Amino acid sequence: MLRVLITVVLLAAVAACSSVPPPPPPPPRGTTEPAPPPPRRAFIGDIRTKEFHREGCPDLENVDISYQRLLEDPGEAADEKFAPCKRCRPYEGW
Ligand SMILES: [Zn+2]
Repeated sequence: MLRVLITVVLLAAVAACSSVPPPPPPPPRGTTEPAPPPPRRAFIGDIRTKEFHREGCPDLENVDISYQRLLEDPGEAADEKFAPCKRCRPYEGW
């Protein structure tokens, strides 16, 4: 009888232990993660005006996507005879 009682107590203890929720995961700490690499700078050439712009130049808002050409760098723009936009000045800071 005593053995049965001990077994019951042990089972109850195991059940109690297993019902304890796991500890919450540590809060995410974004500061410890490496910062994502900065977006690669791209240049957009307007094949109609033969001007090229920085990505996001307001002048590009009026340029249909079919007239836009992605350029890897100002050197490629120069090879393609694109002139730098006077508004966003894509050569500066390159
Ligand atoms: Zn521009």
